[in-house]
Amino acid sequence: MVEKKAEKYNPQQIERKWRARWAADHLYQVSEDDARPKWYHLTMFPYTSGDLHIGHWYAMAPSDVHARFKRMQGYNVLHPMGFDAFGLPAENAAISRGIHPFTWTMENIERMREQLRSLGAIYDWSREVVTCLPDYYKWTQWFFLKLYKAGLAYRAKAPVNWCPQCQTVLANEQVVGEGVCERCGTAVTKRDLEQWFFKITNYAEELLDHSHIEWPERIKAMQRNWIGKSEGVEVAFGIEGGEIRVFTTRADTIFGVTFVVLAPEHPLADKLTAPERRGEVERYVEWARRQSEMERVSTGREKGGVFIGSYAINKLSGERVPIWIADYVLMTYGTGAVMAVPAHDTRDFEFAKIFGLPIKVVIAPQGWSGEDLEEAYVEPGTMVNSAQFDGLPSEQGMEAIADFIEARGYGERKTTYRLRDWLISRQRYWGAPIPIVYCDKCGLVPVPEEDLPVLLPEDAEFRPTGESPLKYCESFVKTSCPKCGAPAQRETDTMDTFICSSWYFLRYTSPDHDGAPFDVGRMRYWLPVDQYTGGAEHATMHLLYARFFVKALRDLGLVDFDEPFARLFNQGVIVIERQKMSKSRGRVITPDEYVADLGADAVRAYLMFIGPWDQGGEWDDRGIKGIARWLHRVWHLVLDSYNAEFSEAIAELAEGDANRAKKELRHFTHKTIKRVTEDLERFRFNTMIAALMEFTNYLSKMREENLMERAAWQEAIDSLLLLLAPTAPHLAEELWTRTGHPYSIHNQLFPTWDEELAAEEEFTLVIQVNGRLRDRVRVPVSITEEEARELALGRERIKRYLEGGEIAGIIYVPRRLVNIVLKPGS
Ligand SMILES: [Zn+2]
Ligand SMILES: [Zn+2]
Repeated sequence: MVEKKAEKYNPQQIERKWRARWAADHLYQVSEDDARPKWYHLTMFPYTSGDLHIGHWYAMAPSDVHARFKRMQGYNVLHPMGFDAFGLPAENAAISRGIHPFTWTMENIERMREQLRSLGAIYDWSREVVTCLPDYYKWTQWFFLKLYKAGLAYRAKAPVNWCPQCQTVLANEQVVGEGVCERCGTAVTKRDLEQWFFKITNYAEELLDHSHIEWPERIKAMQRNWIGKSEGVEVAFGIEGGEIRVFTTRADTIFGVTFVVLAPEHPLADKLTAPERRGEVERYVEWARRQSEMERVSTGREKGGVFIGSYAINKLSGERVPIWIADYVLMTYGTGAVMAVPAHDTRDFEFAKIFGLPIKVVIAPQGWSGEDLEEAYVEPGTMVNSAQFDGLPSEQGMEAIADFIEARGYGERKTTYRLRDWLISRQRYWGAPIPIVYCDKCGLVPVPEEDLPVLLPEDAEFRPTGESPLKYCESFVKTSCPKCGAPAQRETDTMDTFICSSWYFLRYTSPDHDGAPFDVGRMRYWLPVDQYTGGAEHATMHLLYARFFVKALRDLGLVDFDEPFARLFNQGVIVIERQKMSKSRGRVITPDEYVADLGADAVRAYLMFIGPWDQGGEWDDRGIKGIARWLHRVWHLVLDSYNAEFSEAIAELAEGDANRAKKELRHFTHKTIKRVTEDLERFRFNTMIAALMEFTNYLSKMREENLMERAAWQEAIDSLLLLLAPTAPHLAEELWTRTGHPYSIHNQLFPTWDEELAAEEEFTLVIQVNGRLRDRVRVPVSITEEEARELALGRERIKRYLEGGEIAGIIYVPRRLVNIVLKPGS
């Protein structure tokens, strides 16, 4: 018979065709009017930086596979996409290239949308949100007003991180490494400015509670550290005409205080400086102000500081101790003053050694007999040199001293947090304007809700002055007071873009709604997000801000849940030649060329195969070609099963062979369904792809050996296509149609497995030595001859019979026995 080869697999043609069909049919459009249970599957939306690179696809393709899988499991899946469109790069492009930020951003969005379409995801584009459009930022401003009226937004003069290169204020989180700007790497300095803040600290305690969400332990730990809760005592030290309050978590060491340290910007520092010390103190303060917070607290750094010439009284011991200023004490943490106990604090110990300050032991290590310490002793011990508290175990002493301090009125127990309020104002144009007006008579007046949005003016001038272009834009600044009508001025700061991304997941539920930020019914139907995926680098920013935002909205009565994201998964990073992708070093992989060459399905499948999703992997052109070859094999395997030659082969099969083929095929099919389903549930995409490849190889082998039974073969091929559908949606759809099934495979249910069929079949392997039964063991039928021999030789009971003997040969009877034959006489 003449073999008629099926036509070639042409992904470019197939993929374009199906995407057009899916779009025309609104196949992935989602409605709230749906009997299926809902599943809100969200991928962090991309920043509109320009082209998407393969890193974006790595965040999006596996996430889409999971969303498709949930959809095939019978959920009504919302998987939306949008754009995080405000921010500094748009403005920098405006300055350097003379393009208006709006134009630059919208052009990027257009290009990114096209790239995202080629991915073949189930995004419901009718729900797209773009944060820089007035119908979105109107509501960002509306939320600001709500928070302001609830006392959660306030204005204060504060030293802020300032990037001299970007000429902008940075949030603490945007200062990275050794105190440099996250964007440009320049060393960050300090400036005092009137700033807007959100009171995230009101929620510090609640944000520590992750008990109602399934998030990676790593992210929860990062948030806990960032919030930095510590419990201790705030206690007063006496000074002439007043007191200095310090916070300590080690009240048990208070008799060991040998000096007090103030932050250089502490208000008392200037007041307490003795005239003869003034010159040196001022020089030091000036120097410290130029240091970033990160530099100041970094542990490896030599401790610097200056004695200011005055003293404080330790009210418990009555001792007089010198007052120093040092930059490692931050005004923004605790009270901006610390009691230094060099004997029991590593940092204080180093400081005391450098400046020759006394070290007084008050917690004795076991077996201590009064000798000097080589290093700070920070463990618990027995209290000594501590008056009436001597002899107490230090943990007990901690409580006893706290009680004593409270009873005497020297201070009280207190809980502090490292978390600071969220600095939200930016001296920039390309953000949502803060809806506040300043009137000479009325002061600070919020813009009435009905006057929103406060639109960004189109005619602003972009100059690298370091101040917001809005400041020089008269048409924007000049307004009238909403209260009294007198001439007034608008706030020219815009909001941190992290506010835009703190509520975008609410907007997806009803992006066309214009009476409120969202339609309450639709929002309630979808929220909270069932599964969120994105990068771990957002742990202490976006992922913390969004949680705060939702809690604040809950307290305002706007939402009725506590947490925005019920489950979270963080993908790893794609690297090239072991290094992160970087535009500036020309090390960027864009998906487009691979889609054009090998098809989107191959790129999707390769990204899932490259490594465990949470760990990332290395991009390798040979790897993706291997994946493309596999998809070609699937194509031919499936289509070759639907021709005359195939029917003939099946018809010729003897009954015994047919029965065996049926049994084996069904077992492998159900085993694969089980593996793939369990892997998809747990985001183990790489092993899922491996299982599908094994299945393909197995089916090819069965076909070569003509071991096919019609119904079981049909079940195997159908299952292969359904299992492949989330990963390679175009190929699966094409083959599904070509094998006579009704459109669309993406409306089918995911196959389920029969536990009995999936179970690995076992038999009792008999082990003989010289033909005599010596042992038996249950083994899977899939055991190979080599595995059976090894198993037999390794059994304890068999080893005894082999001792001293020499093996002449091993006889293996498949599915029955292993017989070890020894040389005669041995
Ligand atoms: Zn910078
Ligand atoms: Zn007024």
